[in-house]
Amino acid sequence: MAKIAINIATGSLQKEDIIVGIDLGTTNSLIAAIHPQTNQAIVLKEHDGIAIVPSVIYFDKGGNVVVGDEAKPYLISNPERTIFSVKRLLGKNYDDIKANASFFSYKIIDDENAKEVKIKIDDVFYSPIDLSSLILKELKKRAEHILKTPVNKAVITVPAYFNDAQRQATRDAGKLAGLDVLRIINEPTAASLAYGIGTSTKEEKIIAVYDLGGGTFDVSILKLSTGVFEVLSTNGNTYLGGDDFDSLVATFFQNQLEITDNDLSEDKSLAQTLRLLAEDAKKHLTNNDFFESEIVKKKVTITKKQFNELIKPLIDKTIVCCKNALKDAELQKSNIDEIIMVGGSTRVPLVKEMVSNYFGKALSDSVNPDEVVALGAAIQADVLAGNNKNVLLLDITPLSLGIETAGELMDVIIPRNAKIPSSATREYTTQIDGQVNMRISIYQGERDIVSDNRLLATINLKGIPPMPAGMAKVQVSFIINADGILTVKAKELRSGVEQQIEIKPQLGIDDEMVEKMLLESMNNAEKDIATRALVEARTEAEQLLKTTERFLQKNANNLINNELADTAAAMQALQLAITMSDKNLIQTKTEALNNISAPYAERIMNLAVGEAMKGRKV
Ligand code: ADP
Ligand code: MG
Repeated sequence: MAKIAINIATGSLQKEDIIVGIDLGTTNSLIAAIHPQTNQAIVLKEHDGIAIVPSVIYFDKGGNVVVGDEAKPYLISNPERTIFSVKRLLGKNYDDIKANASFFSYKIIDDENAKEVKIKIDDVFYSPIDLSSLILKELKKRAEHILKTPVNKAVITVPAYFNDAQRQATRDAGKLAGLDVLRIINEPTAASLAYGIGTSTKEEKIIAVYDLGGGTFDVSILKLSTGVFEVLSTNGNTYLGGDDFDSLVATFFQNQLEITDNDLSEDKSLAQTLRLLAEDAKKHLTNNDFFESEIVKKKVTITKKQFNELIKPLIDKTIVCCKNALKDAELQKSNIDEIIMVGGSTRVPLVKEMVSNYFGKALSDSVNPDEVVALGAAIQADVLAGNNKNVLLLDITPLSLGIETAGELMDVIIPRNAKIPSSATREYTTQIDGQVNMRISIYQGERDIVSDNRLLATINLKGIPPMPAGMAKVQVSFIINADGILTVKAKELRSGVEQQIEIKPQLGIDDEMVEKMLLESMNNAEKDIATRALVEARTEAEQLLKTTERFLQKNANNLINNELADTAAAMQALQLAITMSDKNLIQTKTEALNNISAPYAERIMNLAVGEAMKGRKV
């Protein structure tokens, strides 16, 4: 068993252990590390192989999981069993993605209660965290094969605009894949590091990072000073990228071939061939002026000029985003010292030309735009490993800090390795009708069940005015000052009642104990995450049972035919599933009860609205 030694003051690991950098992308993912001999960051690939792993997962009927290039063909042949763009779902609930639900060809479950969407394949429910962990596992496996050593620690990148929930979900995916995620860093920061920016504490710079990937575009304005990157602004379009270039070219070819949309929806393999051909054409035109090929025994051609005309409106949109980002950062184009190009689609010459013209400056585009984020993550990993002494390391929290939530789960508010000083706020609510007190227990540690962690303190928030469960809004803030003192504040927003407490989290905890807690968390990661998933499914199911019961008490008279009997049966089945502690069964029965009650709930709601409208002039 590997021994982890961690220096509390710096958070750096003491042992020469390999730490990898991972770019977990919407379209493609990569893993990189520092070469032990050359000390250069390199992406990990088999001899002459490809480093890029498409972020695609295919579930075959036998329950096998295929990740990467091999999964790609199934996007068209078996779309309902093939997951792509899972990064768009990380840390999101159904409400967040509902407007774009048709974008996904696989089944996303619409259940109002859940805090995270679920994807259903056969009878198994997967969370975006589960799915992302499958991609990370594949990367880990490849890295271990190439490096011929176990890989257990990683730095993972996320877009600068990711919120707390999305960052936490990324961290959990890493943990589930068996990785100790030492830090989550912003993609534009990683790209800057790969260009050697930010390795000296004296450097002061304003950097624009333009990232055009497969399906998303974002631009970030960063400020570097005293060795710290600060995100001044971000802008972008989460549904704009190289895939859109491909569709424009595909439609262009489709017109040349005189194929109708109908022909394509009937012939899936033709659609696939056309799509792949369009991407080939696009890539070819990056280095050539003309593309020609044959499909269904007919010739297709496209010139660079034609291609540029097609995509110009899309690039114009990205320029508008750059403008807005500058405005939000309260800066002028002339303030930008460095423009870094990231993402496969920035290879397109017209993209480079238009971005450079807009900023009126030469671009930093010498590092491979597919690899630049992963390389930067590897450089950050090396710093954390304590190998790169030139870089200043800020004080960080040695263990995660959080509170206990329903089902004895640990809800992390400030993750381990967060910079000090640091602060974070989250909102919680009551679980019981008329609840007037709320006990907030503060824990430190990496385990998912609070009793495995270290209890630091408890706050008893009293005087919450009685209201139905779920109505109270309790804001919990964690503030760690520069001396590492944690202050926890709890405030009920509707009434304003407030309470706070000061804690020294480091008190009575030494390196050895931190080390022991970290090891335990790694050894129990899989079990812990399974327990958390079960507890969450159970909490959600119990909530649904409660609301259904309350609904029936009020509205039983308005139910017709077998609705009452069906509901009772579904409720009983759900109760039974809960007692059997089977996550997938609980989720299946939750969905079943939802499906039975949704139609009449809607009907009765409409009825009520109708009643309220009666006698009123509209
Ligand atoms: P993400 O960050 O979204 O995972 P990437 O940065 O890997 O995505 O970018 C993938 C996109 O880059 C795809 O649309 C791909 O077609 C495009 N791409 C890759 N190579 C080239 C090239 N030579 N010319 C034009 N586009 C390219
Ligand atoms: Mg990317």
